Amino acid sequence: MEENQPPYTTPERRAIHEAGHVVLHRCFGDPAKIESADIKRSEERDAYGQVVVPTCSPSALEAVSLMVSTLGGLAAEHIQYCDRDYRGGDGDIREAEGIYHQLVDAMGIEPTKESTVKCLNACTAAAIMVLKKRWSCVEKVASALLLKEEIFRPEIIELTVDCHPREFERHIQNLYNILMS
Ligand SMILES: [Zn+2]
Repeated sequence: MEENQPPYTTPERRAIHEAGHVVLHRCFGDPAKIESADIKRSEERDAYGQVVVPTCSPSALEAVSLMVSTLGGLAAEHIQYCDRDYRGGDGDIREAEGIYHQLVDAMGIEPTKESTVKCLNACTAAAIMVLKKRWSCVEKVASALLLKEEIFRPEIIELTVDCHPREFERHIQNLYNILMS
């Protein structure tokens, strides 16, 4: 039933969401080396669209980059649609929380509800800031995803040539300092 479909299920919205992830991965030095991105329906995951990256054990700074990239889908939707309909992003929020908890666990710090919320808010703000600066790349990736449904690394690199790996390294360092203070 059409009226029960939340807006994130439109192909355009899925494309913007996945493009947000892609562009942030590329801006942060691509530590996770994106293999592909798609906006296809997956019955197995009960979700639409994904960005495929090999699993890695990130350094502390890479973990902060990954949290920001993980929240990049919701950040892109927020920029494009100016709404708070984040129902489609529960998985992303849980994933970012998981990365944060691993990061602080490794430092022997007990995460609290308050510190987790503070972290997610700071990472979302960083995602929105960077995506606004590279919005033309988000639009290019989203258009390609809408056209082809799935794109692979060589094309992703071509579409994001304006994202220079590690160009936002200083921001990540600042964010890390804020999160750990
Ligand atoms: Zn997502």
